[in-house]
Amino acid sequence: MDYKPFISVVENFPIEGIRFKDITSLMSDGAVYKQAMDDIAVYAKEKQVDVIVGPEARGFIVGCPVAYTLGLGFVPVRKEGKLPREVIKVDYGLEYGKDVLTMHKDAIKPGQRVLITDDLLATGGTIEATIKLVEELGGVVAGIAFMIELTYLDGRKKLSGYDIFTLTQY
Ligand code: IMP
Repeated sequence: MDYKPFISVVENFPIEGIRFKDITSLMSDGAVYKQAMDDIAVYAKEKQVDVIVGPEARGFIVGCPVAYTLGLGFVPVRKEGKLPREVIKVDYGLEYGKDVLTMHKDAIKPGQRVLITDDLLATGGTIEATIKLVEELGGVVAGIAFMIELTYLDGRKKLSGYDIFTLTQY
């Protein structure tokens, strides 16, 4: 299915010069959102994943419905200070400065096959950091799924060696 007609492109958001891809218009159409999640669930099944991991907040929008569809668990990756139990952490670079992502220390068992989800692949920095967390716990990244890929930012290069599935590309 062609998902582009359901994605809004917003000029100059959040800052001048950015063409923001907005998935909320796709999500508000129940049939299209379901089809998108079902397409990712098919990919997850092919990759024989045991658990799904997604960074806040839009990684949850993709990861949770796919986990529910397949009867799998979902592990949230969150900014520092949000998860209540013992965590592992990773620093990652942002356009300006640095941030920290965390995951519960007992969230993944060694050898588990993991699908990582997010709404959009830009430079790949967020997912590179998420991979580090998964691998630190001994998880195997079996695949990474996005609704949107911005091919001109070359995120795939940063994630080379990993299998990537995207519903649509710009
Ligand atoms: P990356 O780490 O550079 O790949 O950036 C990906 C993250 O930035 C994702 O979690 C997205 O939610 C967010 N992001 C960057 N550009 C856009 C956009 O155009 N639309 C929606 N989210 C975006």
